[in-house]
Amino acid sequence: MQIITCPYCGAGCRAYVKKELSRPFMIEYVTDINVPNDLGKLCPKGNAMFEHMISKERLKVPLKAIEEGKFVKISWKDAINEIASFIRSYMKDDPNKLMFLAGGKVSNESAYLFQKFARNIGTNNIDNTSHFCHGVSVKAILDSNFERNWATYEEIEESNLIVIWGANLAETFPLIFRRVLKAKSKGAKIIVIDPRKTKTTKFASAHLRPFPGTDIALINALINLLMERRNAKSVLFTASDLEIIGKYSPEYAEKLTGVPAGDIEKIAREIILAEKGIILWGSGIAMYSNGYDVIRSVITLASMANFKILPLAGQNNSQGVTDMGIMPDLLPGYRTYDDIDFFKKAWKNDELSDEIGLDIAKSIKEAQKGNISAFYIMGANIAVSFPEAEKALKSTEFIIAQDIFPTQTTELADIILPAATFFESDGSTTNVERRIQWSPRVKWPPKDAKPDWAILCELATAVGLEGFGFYFPEEILHEISTLVPQYANADPRTLTRTPEGIIWNMGSSSQPTKVYTSDRMPSFEPPIMITVRYVGQFQTGTMTNRSPSLKARWQNLPILISEDDASKWGIKDDDRVRLVSENGEYIGTVKVSKTILPGTIKAPWHNGANRIMSLRIDEETGLPQMKACSCTIEKVE
Ligand code: SF4
Repeated sequence: MQIITCPYCGAGCRAYVKKELSRPFMIEYVTDINVPNDLGKLCPKGNAMFEHMISKERLKVPLKAIEEGKFVKISWKDAINEIASFIRSYMKDDPNKLMFLAGGKVSNESAYLFQKFARNIGTNNIDNTSHFCHGVSVKAILDSNFERNWATYEEIEESNLIVIWGANLAETFPLIFRRVLKAKSKGAKIIVIDPRKTKTTKFASAHLRPFPGTDIALINALINLLMERRNAKSVLFTASDLEIIGKYSPEYAEKLTGVPAGDIEKIAREIILAEKGIILWGSGIAMYSNGYDVIRSVITLASMANFKILPLAGQNNSQGVTDMGIMPDLLPGYRTYDDIDFFKKAWKNDELSDEIGLDIAKSIKEAQKGNISAFYIMGANIAVSFPEAEKALKSTEFIIAQDIFPTQTTELADIILPAATFFESDGSTTNVERRIQWSPRVKWPPKDAKPDWAILCELATAVGLEGFGFYFPEEILHEISTLVPQYANADPRTLTRTPEGIIWNMGSSSQPTKVYTSDRMPSFEPPIMITVRYVGQFQTGTMTNRSPSLKARWQNLPILISEDDASKWGIKDDDRVRLVSENGEYIGTVKVSKTILPGTIKAPWHNGANRIMSLRIDEETGLPQMKACSCTIEKVE
């Protein structure tokens, strides 16, 4: 029996595939080896992991737009020639007019080739859709020299204090949450920090509810209390750090966050007393314009308490695409452009650029000013998941969209390339504990659809690039294992024969942790809309809405408002409302809920609420505001 990886969230759960005549595939739980999912169990998405693949809506042949949204079938030869000739025309003079975007669910091999393709064309304008969440977290960990405390799932179970910050683990990472519950059954305390009451908070011994965007004030107060009462001398803070921390008494933090000072002191005591602690965090703190500062500060707190850490990632390969260098400022293996000569030699190309490229947010802005001529989008529906993306795509001369289904993004494309699903190609992905896992092909792609890596090899050869003569993904993984230090142990011979996967090769770092403090904080006028995810939905629904069992249960997700706000605004259950921000509007049906903090509104991520976030890029941090925004609410008559 083959063992495969779930194609949804970053937990990296595994399952056996059983082929049967009556049904194409059956899943069998993995109970005999150590896999990320405890006892081999899967969540509803995992149990439905094959459903989307056999949908009749699959893209099966290359398509060319004859007018916006109207397509005709073309051959692969014509599609490749047309794209290659467009790219060649920019390659000579202005490769930075091209932008390359990938979703966080493409395999390591396809991700590696995608950035190799972009960089060999001459541009570092390359990014992935997990950048402003997981990418920010990984960068913060590496910049802090704190990789050595990056936890595995087993270490969650061994902890006696678990802090879950800005994540509804029970809903979005149910199989990681099982590890938390196992620790709880052995006596661990669970602290959840989240403005909402959620399925996760039901299991918490303490729940702190900071107002959206104010987490950094809470972290600073905790650092302050730890300094007073514990190992302040062992941490090398600068004078400016001490000045920032000194301001954050529990009472001052209460004013900013709404969390009672007594509760902050209680949590600080728990942290000080914990023998083995861990902090897990999610997009609830990472996707703000101060996300990098918040994560660095969380790491500072963790280093003072000698806690483990675990950043959570929404997509099955958010970790891998970041490792592979689908980032505008980092090369594969997190090398900076100071190391560009290493890749010039490895890829036999002296022309590689060492100029930091555009990230997604900046490319969307630049496209609207006419400075981007083409987007190549692989496995991402940015027209729905990013504010202003639709406008940006409409201002662009040429769009290549490579995907498994028609989406709002492929609708705007000039050429659509039909891709294979995750299960229709061999390949590896890396989960959030940095476990690299091989997943074999379990069926052939339908009709003319092809794996992403195979499309990239054809295209690169047509463009005239060398170094893309791969016939199997194993050959690409071999190249990765020779160039990316973290994957040095994951050569194809070993990885394909190790069903438990292989954890990043870490080396031993003797570098001290670099502590960091900040009090940079976004400000919002209430009501504030925050976006949230549901267990049976994934990203913009491209796969889950084609999975009948998930679609039946997780449709029409409501906008949740508090009871206080409902009576203040005269809104009741099932009213249709319009949320209006500076960037647009989102319409949905209301449910009044006791779980919501007054002044906040909870909207489902999956149906396009993200489009109304602000793409204003913070001048100091360079990050957009992607988790929360001020809005108005009105009834739709
Ligand atoms: Fe798949 Fe994530 Fe569910 Fe595991 S927790 S089965 S990886 S969606």
